[in-house]
Parts: sequence; C-alpha cells; structure tokens
Amino acid sequence: MKSGTLFIIATPIGNLEDMTFRAVRILKEVDLVAAEDTRHSRKLLTHFGISRPLTSYYDHNQNFKGNYLLERLQAGDSVALISDAGTPCISDPGYQLVRDAVAAGITVVPVPGPSAAITALSAAGLPTDSFVFAGFLPNRAGKRREKLSSLAGEQRVMVFYESPNRLLATLADMLELFGPRESVVARELTKIYEEFVRGPLPVVIAGFEGRQIKGEVVILVAPADTPDAPPIVAVSDMLRRCLAEGVSLKDAVKRVSLETGQSRSAVYDEAVRLKGESR
Ligand code: SAM
Repeated sequence: MKSGTLFIIATPIGNLEDMTFRAVRILKEVDLVAAEDTRHSRKLLTHFGISRPLTSYYDHNQNFKGNYLLERLQAGDSVALISDAGTPCISDPGYQLVRDAVAAGITVVPVPGPSAAITALSAAGLPTDSFVFAGFLPNRAGKRREKLSSLAGEQRVMVFYESPNRLLATLADMLELFGPRESVVARELTKIYEEFVRGPLPVVIAGFEGRQIKGEVVILVAPADTPDAPPIVAVSDMLRRCLAEGVSLKDAVKRVSLETGQSRSAVYDEAVRLKGESR
C-alpha cells in the first residue's frame, strides 16, 4: 500500500489574512489534521470552512501520538501538522514527527507561510544576508546568561523568541554581555498593536521600561562589530558630573548606564568607588 503524505502547514501568527490559499486547500483535503491545541486550531479551521478531523500533537504526547500518526500515514492517510501559530517545528512541536516520517520513507511536504522570526527580520532594518535563529533562551537567569555569553562573538544578526514578562531582564543581560549593540524588538507582529522598537540596546530598554509589556515579542541583535561601549573612564566622568549636579546615586547609575551602554552593576560599582573617594 502506498503511504500517505505528511504536510507541514504554516498558519498565521496573528492576522488571519496571512493564511495561504494552498494551506486552506490542503487542510480541506487531508484525512487528519494534527494540531498543538485542538480547541485553538478548531477556531482557525472553522474560520476557513475546514471541517476535517482534528487530533492533538503537542510536546508531552508526541511520543505516543507520533506513532499513531505514522501508522495512519503508513496506512495511506494524508496528515497535516499545524501549530498554534506560524510554522510548525520552529520553536514548536513537529521535528520528531518529521524525522520519523522521513526515516519511514513517508513523503513530507512543507506548505510555507508566516513565521515570527522571518517576519520580524524582514522589517527590522538589520542586515539580512546571514542570521542565526537562536529560538527561546533558557528560562533560568544563570543558564540564559551562559547561553548569551556563548553568543557574544557571533558575527551574524541573532533572532530570539522571548516571553513579554522576561523581555526586560533578557535585554538587560544582553546589554551587559554584548554591550550597546543595535537591536530591535518586534512586538505583536501582524496584529493591531504591532510595534517595532529599534536602536542601541539602552534605547530599546528605555522604550520598554515602566510599561506593562503585553503580547508576543521577537528580539533581534546586531553582530559584534558595533562600536565599543565607552570605556569606564567616560563612565566616571559622567557619574562625577551627575553627582555634582545633585542627582541621586540611583538615578545617576540609571542615566549613565543607559547613555554609555555599560551594565548597571558596573556603573554602580564605579559610583560606589567615587563616593568612597570623595569621603
Ligand atoms: N512556530 C512559530 C513561528 O513560526 O514563528 C513560533 C512559535 S513559538 C512557541 C512562539 C514565539 O514566537 C513567541 O513567544 C514569540 O517570541 C514569537 N511570536 C509568535 N507570534 C508572534 C507575533 N505575532 N509577534 C511577535 N512575536 C511572535
């Protein structure tokens, strides 16, 4: 018996008008749709008048569900894999299924469409000739900083996925470990509140500080060849000036860190040293 085909189908990352004609046609034709979250995907399919059977395929059931999907494919059924948004397998489940299907000699057909990484990159205004998709950073601060340190010498634009509640902490770590590089945060792509905040990391951080950050975000950071942050001498001079003007230590550290791109902790240490000197 001839095996069926596994279709890997991209779906919109916010704006339903980004669904492709081909995605709709194939989803209407397959025997089974495997989705990360069936309730979420049912709404999408209903919107496009698609009523094929749906089954779940997500991180925690992919072992046993993968076997079931492979059996269906081997029995000649066609299966479409979709994720909650964007392209399956890109920081989403699917890789293992594709790998197993390929190993089993099943034809795998990609049906391209939106992906937040490429969408962000296309309008970021950073070099696009080569880039690294770094996906999600580890949740824990220590591991995240370790990963970022390992990327400090990267010569290509880096693209990260991040949750809005970790955005500022991650940007602060990037500033400390990368310096004040050119960067872009793309938020709520293709949706009503789509926003791009561009500039050196200190400027992008200032663009989000004090705000409640909602929605989904992609962070892009330029390669290591941006000009070096001013040396600590410049930091000392600026701190001296601020403190002489009567600016509080906390505000001086914040201001100088933003303007020079030096980490807050480095500026703070220098401020404490200066205070000690003046006693
Ligand atoms: N497979 C998806 C793709 O192709 O882009 C990515 C799925 S991943 C689980 C979700 C992450 O993608 C979000 O945390 C965010 O970093 C990014 N993302 C997805 N949709 C987005 C959007 N509309 N605007 C900005 N970032 C988005």
